[in-house]
Amino acid sequence: MAKKLPSVLLRAGEDRRVRAGHPWAFSNEILMDAETKAIPAGSLAILRAPSGEALGLATFNPHSLIAARLLTTNPEASVDALFLGRRIAQATALRDRLIGVPYYRLIHAEADGLPGVIVDRFGDALVVQLNSAGMDALAPVLLEALEAELSPTTIVLKNDSPVRELEGLKREVTVAKGNGGPIELIENGARFVADLSEGQKTGWFYDQRDNRRFMAGLSKDASVLDVYSYSGGFGVLAAKEGAKSVTCIDRSAAALDVAKQAAALNGVDNVSFEKAEAFEMLEKLGGTMARKFDVVICDPPAFVKSRKDLKTGAQGYRKMVRLAAPLVARGGFLFVASCSHLVDPPVFAEQVKRGLHDAERTGRILRTSGAALDHPVHPDLPETAYLKALTLQLD
Ligand code: SAH
Repeated sequence: MAKKLPSVLLRAGEDRRVRAGHPWAFSNEILMDAETKAIPAGSLAILRAPSGEALGLATFNPHSLIAARLLTTNPEASVDALFLGRRIAQATALRDRLIGVPYYRLIHAEADGLPGVIVDRFGDALVVQLNSAGMDALAPVLLEALEAELSPTTIVLKNDSPVRELEGLKREVTVAKGNGGPIELIENGARFVADLSEGQKTGWFYDQRDNRRFMAGLSKDASVLDVYSYSGGFGVLAAKEGAKSVTCIDRSAAALDVAKQAAALNGVDNVSFEKAEAFEMLEKLGGTMARKFDVVICDPPAFVKSRKDLKTGAQGYRKMVRLAAPLVARGGFLFVASCSHLVDPPVFAEQVKRGLHDAERTGRILRTSGAALDHPVHPDLPETAYLKALTLQLD
């Protein structure tokens, strides 16, 4: 079968990185002659060194900056449901060992050998995001493999990410199997709800699992402010683990409705919910109201979405800390996170430091953390470790 595949040739000297283990070849590294340009987006192709030597099989999109994504270094492999199924089985075994309950990020793209694929698991339900033309073309085979490995009752294709446009793909949400509505999940021993079709991203942010547990541990008998709360992952857990009171703030009424359901499921009645713009609310709480909280959590959406707004976006973290720090009681804790992959950890730490300085507060960094273990990183793609978080104690 592999013999019939088109070939894509790397330019002179451009094979070194792929040979060293990097899973991508960029369009400027590929010999883009008329024949290569005419290969339909999303095709499987044999990636070849300038000498013609086959380096492996890749999905190919001549119109994308990340033109080739290596699936295997074996050019003879057949990329079928068995092939994809083996990778799914390995990823599942790892998560079962790491997390223990079937609620986790099952596939984290390149790190799990499936470039362009995200799968979050909610028990018998799967939410799939296909972010490359190659994987979009392989969707039927991937679904067959997921079916064989996990027999899910529900599969939602949450293909609404903006990155699909870079691959020339439509943004759409389809329920491939079952019922794509709200579903219960268990995390850190608490019950939550994710809306699989209507929620943000896959419906739930598993990446903060460990950070939520850590912050809940600091929240016993504390007053807690959870800004950008989404569906209550931090705030409701803190309440369940013994916080005195919790205030969740988000601008999305739908997210807060789901958070309220989570509070009810866990039998906590000391959580209040405010629909508000975060910065406005922080200003109000810190200004005329002069409120103080023992624990303040700020887990915003990505402030930097493209390289061109790196500078202004990064300053958003400074402003967030400037507005949040005054709300932290002496000896209390501030958790701040950034999920902007374009903001490197030192840049984030610098903005946090400046924000503290602006607020005339001092303190100490207790913990530097990232995404939970079900979000592994391919060693050649350190930039895919997008989540950064700092926990500080303030004087
Ligand atoms: N902390 C959450 C995830 C946050 S995702 C968790 O643990 O699951 C970011 C959230 O910020 C989303 O729920 C979004 O609705 C909200 N949001 C985005 N911009 C906002 C703004 N300007 N003011 C308030 N909330 C905002």
